[in-house]
Amino acid sequence: MTFATLGLIEPLLRSLETLGYQTPTPVQAQAIPAVLAGRDLMAAAQTGTGKTAGFALPLLQLLAMEGPKVAANSVRALILVPTRELAEQVHEAVRQYAENLPLRTYAVYGGVSINPQMMKLRSGVDLLVATPGRLLDLFRQNALKFNQLQTLVLDEADRMLDLGFSEELANIYKALPKKRQTLLFSATFSDDIRLLAGQMLNDPLSIEVSPRNVAANTVKQWIVTVDKKRKPELFVHLMRKGKWKQVLVFAKTRNGVDALVEKLQGLGINADGIHGDKPQATRQRALDRFKLSEVQILVATDVAARGLDIEDLPLVVNFDLPIVAEDYIHRIGRTGRAGSTGEAISLVCADEVNLLSAIEMLTRQTLKRQNEPDFEPEHRVPDTDASGQVIKKPKKPKKPKASGGGGGKRNLGKWVDSGEAAPAEPSIKPVRKVPVFNTGPRKRKP
Ligand code: AMP
Repeated sequence: MTFATLGLIEPLLRSLETLGYQTPTPVQAQAIPAVLAGRDLMAAAQTGTGKTAGFALPLLQLLAMEGPKVAANSVRALILVPTRELAEQVHEAVRQYAENLPLRTYAVYGGVSINPQMMKLRSGVDLLVATPGRLLDLFRQNALKFNQLQTLVLDEADRMLDLGFSEELANIYKALPKKRQTLLFSATFSDDIRLLAGQMLNDPLSIEVSPRNVAANTVKQWIVTVDKKRKPELFVHLMRKGKWKQVLVFAKTRNGVDALVEKLQGLGINADGIHGDKPQATRQRALDRFKLSEVQILVATDVAARGLDIEDLPLVVNFDLPIVAEDYIHRIGRTGRAGSTGEAISLVCADEVNLLSAIEMLTRQTLKRQNEPDFEPEHRVPDTDASGQVIKKPKKPKKPKASGGGGGKRNLGKWVDSGEAAPAEPSIKPVRKVPVFNTGPRKRKP
């Protein structure tokens, strides 16, 4: 199969050739013809599967081939994303795909001055990438009209709900024409999202290119158990031992990010941090420098967990486990992208055993434990498995058998293939508000 056989026009094929895309990925093979045919879409695709091109290519083609010229302060296609970084990244991909088409594209997001964005919107934009809050600001200040809008894309929809954008989404939805095409993309599909999809989509085609809630199998995942206070020391030890070159590290809090960056920098290690308290320009600079390998260790809160495409990132370290189990999948999705292999290491302390258990249930695998000599925890992390069982009491150590045969060896946990263990409800569920949308009849013209 080629992009030409999917029905893409020559200017797009030329852009893809320049980018070196030869074969459509599975999500692209399914999404492109469906979007071209005007269908609504509900697509569950793993991160790194090429979903951006899956919606952007057919969208650009429809904009180039159909519909009126864009009017002042109007927008014909809208891509909503949860974070500023993702807005930049998606827009950059769109810009490259649209290189040979006479279309105007742009990205708007908060944290930067609104005036240049208002100026730019005056002459109209065919395709706009936006974060929900800034989009609403622009709409309320009459810098944007939606009467020409033909397509809405929700990218990382579950993350938008996690980040508390449900009210903004409901308000945006109210302002949009009822007759339009809607594409909903998400790396994970929770029940809340399925509910949202039921309210927003019109006879959608469901695409699921990977098992539900299972991380990319190109990522080798393991955990090291350690006492909480020794995590920084263990991190530095593993870094030196493994001769880590480029690592994306996730910490739970903004203070946690700052403390680790400070410690690493104090040791002469080239590290930087990104989190929500930092100005947008500083965040973007740190990310750009990390992508260029000018920064070796980038420490981030979950702000950076979603959607960021960093080429050939070999290693992700969870300095702290995420509070919401689904974020684990997004975090480790930063490595092992587009078919390359990657590694994800989590430093786990006793306090985090319930988080670990929730992750194992969600991903339906028991994470392999690898203990680091000299860092064995005083506060033991109870054994867990993919069924959600936490074995609270430490097992009595068996007496070593005289005949050998592995007795007395530490239980390293069981590797299971995804799907082997029965899926169960995670014990830790994200708390989300689901917006209630006014669903009028919507039919796209054939
Ligand atoms: P995404 O999942 O959209 O973030 O894409 C992940 C990465 O795969 C990006 O760097 C894309 O440029 C790249 N990519 C997407 N589609 C293809 C393709 N068909 N062939 C090669 N690379 C691709």
